[in-house]
Amino acid sequence: MIIAAYQGVEGAYSDILLRRHFAAREEEVETLGVPTFRDVAVALLAGRARYGVLPMENTVAGTFREGYDLLAQYDLNPVREVIFRMEHRLLGVPGATLAGLTRIEAHPIVLEECGKFLATLPGARPTPAIDTGVAARDVAEAKDPHFAAIAPAEAAARYGLVELAANIADHPDIVTRFLIVEAVRPELRTPPGSKSRRTSVLFATAHEHGLLARCLTALADAGINLTKLESRPKPGRAWEYMFYADFEGDAADAPIAAALAQVRALCTEFRLLGSYDVATLAPAAAAEPPAAKGAALKSVAPMPMPAAAKNYPLAARPSRPAGTQIRIGEVLVGGGEFVIMAGPCSVESRAQVFATAEAVRARGAVMLRGGAFKPRTNPYAFQGLGWDGVDLLGEAGRATGLPTVSEVMSVDQVERMARSVDVLQIGARNMQNFDLLKAVGRTTRPILLKRGLSATLDELLAAAEYVLSEGNPHVILCERGIRTFETATRNTLDLSAVPVLRERTHLPIVVDPSHGVGVRRWIRPLARAAKAVGADGIIVEVHPNPAEAKSDADQALTFDDFAEIVSELEEIPRFGT
Ligand code: PEP
Ligand code: MN
Repeated sequence: MIIAAYQGVEGAYSDILLRRHFAAREEEVETLGVPTFRDVAVALLAGRARYGVLPMENTVAGTFREGYDLLAQYDLNPVREVIFRMEHRLLGVPGATLAGLTRIEAHPIVLEECGKFLATLPGARPTPAIDTGVAARDVAEAKDPHFAAIAPAEAAARYGLVELAANIADHPDIVTRFLIVEAVRPELRTPPGSKSRRTSVLFATAHEHGLLARCLTALADAGINLTKLESRPKPGRAWEYMFYADFEGDAADAPIAAALAQVRALCTEFRLLGSYDVATLAPAAAAEPPAAKGAALKSVAPMPMPAAAKNYPLAARPSRPAGTQIRIGEVLVGGGEFVIMAGPCSVESRAQVFATAEAVRARGAVMLRGGAFKPRTNPYAFQGLGWDGVDLLGEAGRATGLPTVSEVMSVDQVERMARSVDVLQIGARNMQNFDLLKAVGRTTRPILLKRGLSATLDELLAAAEYVLSEGNPHVILCERGIRTFETATRNTLDLSAVPVLRERTHLPIVVDPSHGVGVRRWIRPLARAAKAVGADGIIVEVHPNPAEAKSDADQALTFDDFAEIVSELEEIPRFGT
């Protein structure tokens, strides 16, 4: 059994990293949490652990100097690099809600990484903790629904917490480079495990013209490829600098050893920190945990992509071959489970939206829809309740525990909407409102992007690309019918979009049969067809009294219609699972 030390308590990122790392190598590990990074070094020297893990740099916060300094001070031997993707989740005790939070605990760097999301919760005070495990443990021990922690999914399981929000980092892909290290004891030294090696050095030159350039030239002349060069002031010596450098190759290789000897001769200080195996970074999708329930989508064999795919490289299937899963509270879209979103076309009153929310939840919906800003064809038609509608929808969502989805019509609504609803809907008429797409792309909320009335599938994907390219990876595509010569149905529900999109993109796909056919009695067969053709879910309109609905009355389902559809859907296998 290997003992590996990390800074923190159970559930911290480095604890999880160690467990995953050794599990992937099929080696049994026991992890040892210690209070500081220095204690990791001490545990190695004292023989209490065989390996330790130290963070070296992060794509947001930059270099962790302490990692480099401890390697030098304690003469530790780096064994291999591990690159770890951070999956920040907001965790609370059961019963906690986003709106009710007053304190969010996390490691200071993690708070920085989630700045945009935290700004959407002005009532909650960001509070630094020693590490993510401590943050999660504190929240679990406090048992206070006003407190939450930012931590990985594993910490939720370990401390009995529930997820209030996922994917909350400003940047969708934050990675940290760690080194697995050991105490230098020649008899124990881990041999290289890979041909691909990297070397780290720490050096200082005298404050003299051209010396740094000569060091770099010595490396360049030996064909050495630098992967990092950073300077920092030398403690206590004004205007003198230390340099951290990483480069490809092993210091034991003769040409590299010779170049390093030249560098050493030019330096006032030189420390060879060591050479180690280089990590490879798996594609982002691989870091997603498996679906909680239900079978995940079978991975799709590589398919030829159309020429237009050059317009949507981030949305195109090859950028995430395993598919994208989007977590919204407890709902996972794209995880294999068929997701049912339901609610009124428009929020009309407190009584109407609460009655509908309770009815659809009781009958199997997992998300609540409801328009507050309505894109109506004529300006005299009911335009929605606006912000009052948004507030009512939020209240109904919280009362029933259903995450909410509502349409955002303009750029100036985006910020407030992102604070109030869980998923931002871009309506069919706005599919190519590029400013709006960019604005929602700068939020951290998942986006339900509806296909435009006359948009091709490649245009839909190029619209999704606008959102992804702004940094928001959470886009759900929605087929809601297109304009054709056929007038018997409100639109023509293009179900062939589902298998075609499945090949071209990794994004989840839901179908809206309500707007697709526009006639209550035809929604049932098309909802069945949507599941049979492989959609990830449906979104349908439901009203307590369809005859009185202020918008889209002809297509509103009664509670009974909805119940019947949901129960029938259970019998239908979903294509692709
Ligand atoms: C809606 O969902 O109520 C709506 C207006 O949809 P679409 O944008 O698809 O017409
Ligand atoms: Mn509608």
